[in-house]
Amino acid sequence: MAKTENKNPAAQKKVTKKVAKKVAKKSLGQPELRFGGWQYAPAPEGTDHVAIEDRYGLFINGEFVRPKSGKYFATINPATEKKIAEVAQANGKDVDRAVQAANKALPGWRKLSGDDRARYLFRIARILLERAREFAVLETLDNGKPIKETRDVDVPLAAQHFFYHAGWADKLGLLFPGELPEPVGVVGQIIPWNFPLLMAAWKIAPALAAGNTVVIKPAETSPLTALRLCEVFAQAELPAGVVNVITGDGATGQALVRHPDLNKVAFTGSTDVGKEIQKAVAGRKVDLTLELGGKAAHLVFEDAALDQAVEGVVRGIFFNQGHVCCAGSRLLVQESVHDLFVRKLQRRMARIRVGDPLDKNTDMGAIHSAEQLQRIQGLVQAGVDEGAVLFQAKAALPKKGFWFAPSMFTGVTQSHRVAREEIFGPVLSVSTFRTPEEAVVKANDTSYGLSAGIWTDKGARILWLASRMRAGVVWNNTFNRFDAASPFGGYQESGFGREGGRQGLRAYVKLRSGLLPG
Ligand code: NDP
Repeated sequence: MAKTENKNPAAQKKVTKKVAKKVAKKSLGQPELRFGGWQYAPAPEGTDHVAIEDRYGLFINGEFVRPKSGKYFATINPATEKKIAEVAQANGKDVDRAVQAANKALPGWRKLSGDDRARYLFRIARILLERAREFAVLETLDNGKPIKETRDVDVPLAAQHFFYHAGWADKLGLLFPGELPEPVGVVGQIIPWNFPLLMAAWKIAPALAAGNTVVIKPAETSPLTALRLCEVFAQAELPAGVVNVITGDGATGQALVRHPDLNKVAFTGSTDVGKEIQKAVAGRKVDLTLELGGKAAHLVFEDAALDQAVEGVVRGIFFNQGHVCCAGSRLLVQESVHDLFVRKLQRRMARIRVGDPLDKNTDMGAIHSAEQLQRIQGLVQAGVDEGAVLFQAKAALPKKGFWFAPSMFTGVTQSHRVAREEIFGPVLSVSTFRTPEEAVVKANDTSYGLSAGIWTDKGARILWLASRMRAGVVWNNTFNRFDAASPFGGYQESGFGREGGRQGLRAYVKLRSGLLPG
């Protein structure tokens, strides 16, 4: 029985009233507490069901092996700064071993019928769902993102990608009528830290569906769910060498993209590293797709359902602490409703619960790393120095770990760094427009082009705007909606190639002209 519980109902009522009064007094100004002192009780998700090894090797040729480098590094929980486990640092020899394993597995895997490959993918998807709670908790521990996001977004969407691509594995011929789709070969994949499991699924599922084999490198600071996925592959009895997971830092990634036996590189990460990779594969017979950064604009018109738009803007920038390539980090709001909209946003931001990522009531978790926190702080300081006006929600941030309060700049001009550079954190910059033409010019005034959001009541205006936005994805009266069937990717410095949908599969096949057998 909990310490405060009292068996006498009258006495219990008295205690509750007293506590409520105390809480209300203490928390004047916190809007959710004004009406009777209701507070959310802590609701932490348990971690007992997640067994974590002290040390992880590399997953090569269907088993965990020690790295030839002999080196390991720690991965920490960003919310507590405590070490979770050690993972192997793969060097050039390890990378070579993994690529050789993928090469050896290729003939057998590509020879399987699409139907057989589909069975493996379905099996992986189902096991992932069966182990959903374990994956959600592990992702939250390793990444710092709230459990309600890992539970409701990362894990189910990752499973959806395996299900979706399982559905295509035996129907590739229908995707490319009159052509013979063949696997590209051995694919080297590199993923970032912001959606570790989801990005692994985005990359691995289409590659396998199309008959390729894979060597994948997760980010240095969030490798645990990709390693846990190897257990799922083993459980699904995926043939050895079809997927190999090598952990390490940027040097490991470099060794992978430079390996001469790769047929394709698929990279998701920053634009700077994307450019380096482009140079590394230039002049070689290696296919390349790049999913890079973004600086997406929300356009909010005066006729929009403003409260709904506030929710969309909040979701667009504060989801996953703003560590989202397609985050709606620039808000362009029509001048006539600017003041009202900003007031509504401030009120809403004050209600965002920042704290223990394992708590089911938490809206915003920890910033992923000390390095990322420093970058956010630096850019926010630049915003202040350049004259933009900073508003920060009064969140009680934990003492340990990496934290940043939900933040918003108003009075931002197109030349401010906070309007041009990807902050990759919970920071919104707000400026205004008067006409739809001006909105389009300002929204497109960026070196990126990954996503955009339009908020208006008028269907014709949505179509007019959407066809003029230089962005790979344009959401209308919603934001950050993802589906495995929907292609995702960018323009300009946001990269090239698409992931998801039929278009995403195109990057994993070579087409030979010739009729397919029935
Ligand atoms: P980075 O580009 O720093 O790293 C991405 C991956 O590349 C990591 O695994 C990293 O290893 C590795 N890497 C680093 N240097 C090299 C190199 N020289 N050669 C090969 N691989 C290398 O990005 P972040 O991890 O910091 O992720 C954030 C970025 O990713 C943001 O810019 C974001 O916009 C973008 N992103 C884009 C998405 C999209 O779909 N367009 C989706 C998600 C994120 P290590 O971890 O050791 O540094």
